[in-house]
Amino acid sequence: MTISAGSPIIVSVNGLVKSFGAHRVLNGVSFDVRRGEVVVVLGPSGSGKSTMLRCVNFLETFEDGTITVNGAPVGYQSDSAGRRRMLDEKVVAKNREHVGMVFQSFNLFPHRTVLQNVMMGPVSVQHRDRTEARKHALELLEKVGLTDKADQYPARLSGGQQQRVAIARALAMRPAVMLFDEATSALDPELVGEVLRVMRELANEGMTMIVVTHEMGFAREVADRVIFMDGGVIMEHGAPHDIMANPQTERFRSFLGMDR
Ligand code: ADP
Ligand code: MG
Repeated sequence: MTISAGSPIIVSVNGLVKSFGAHRVLNGVSFDVRRGEVVVVLGPSGSGKSTMLRCVNFLETFEDGTITVNGAPVGYQSDSAGRRRMLDEKVVAKNREHVGMVFQSFNLFPHRTVLQNVMMGPVSVQHRDRTEARKHALELLEKVGLTDKADQYPARLSGGQQQRVAIARALAMRPAVMLFDEATSALDPELVGEVLRVMRELANEGMTMIVVTHEMGFAREVADRVIFMDGGVIMEHGAPHDIMANPQTERFRSFLGMDR
């Protein structure tokens, strides 16, 4: 999908710094994601990809930098003197509603049916009308190809099916952006394709997405932009056909297996 430079910025990360104790895990990460864009984040294990996504969803606090999602600050706001203050939990919870996240582990509620899993957030967190939430949940289950599993319990589903429910559940909150953190890494190889297919369809429908993945084919074919992270910084950033074909740094070359 072609995204015009005039599309509104949905996620803006500026100078993000995050440490765990003395270990600086993110060292000044900045990027914007425009509406409808798919940004794929690549990088070796430990490079800070998950921490970065968790900061965008405010599952982590951070020491420096700013993040806004849909124009609203995530985590911190500046007072009139320019000092940064942590946002209170209510504001954070509100802002987090703009962000849908899908993890490597599916984290479905085991004692709720598939349909109940998808309806739960809209009904109990967003206080939406139950009938409307049910209708929307059924539409989302159709989108991910699981209409026939609506009344099943998660344990009866394959990993690929559970992950598709997790995607439907995140979409049910009508997020402005979807974050995927290695959503297919825990799946048996034969189940990876069905989840990638749903992600690709979402991308084609214009969903704004930040996708951490090791699926190079997905990065090449679906990403509008690719970010390569290493050691808590963005080493390379550009259109996939540019930077994946012509990596500028030794580390990205090596990551892509091009140094042999
Ligand atoms: P990636 O997702 O790219 O593999 P992570 O963001 O998970 O990288 O981790 C980046 C670094 O931060 C790693 O060195 C990891 O050990 C460390 N780290 C991540 N989470 C924590 C935590 N909760 N406490 C301490 N260190 C952490
Ligand atoms: Mg990770």
